[in-house]
Amino acid sequence: MPTPKTFTGGCHCGQVRFEATSDLAMVTACNCSICTKKGLHLAFLAPTNFQLRAGEENLKEYLFNRHAIRHQLCIDCGVDVFARGTRPDGTEVIALNVSCIDGIDLSTIAMTPIDGRNR
Ligand SMILES: [Zn+2]
Repeated sequence: MPTPKTFTGGCHCGQVRFEATSDLAMVTACNCSICTKKGLHLAFLAPTNFQLRAGEENLKEYLFNRHAIRHQLCIDCGVDVFARGTRPDGTEVIALNVSCIDGIDLSTIAMTPIDGRNR
């Protein structure tokens, strides 16, 4: 099993910065409309494993569909850094855009196919 690591990352312009801890064992390759159009690959984290370090005031919330997932976009560069969501059992979850992790190489990440389009 991969061991959790702590990563830093942020949006493209650098105003939004975060620190996150994850083993990146489950990273989505989802075929839903937003993941396809934005090229999103998400890792789901407990809120305690995600800290926004800078740029809280630089975030714009984007909602669609059932508004179950609240996407957080940098208002300057437009990058969708993370999203806040609620699991069916009511617990809060962070969906981190793994492409925002500093130095990430997506070609080295094992992706889990998700059929979001048909959910
Ligand atoms: Zn930005």
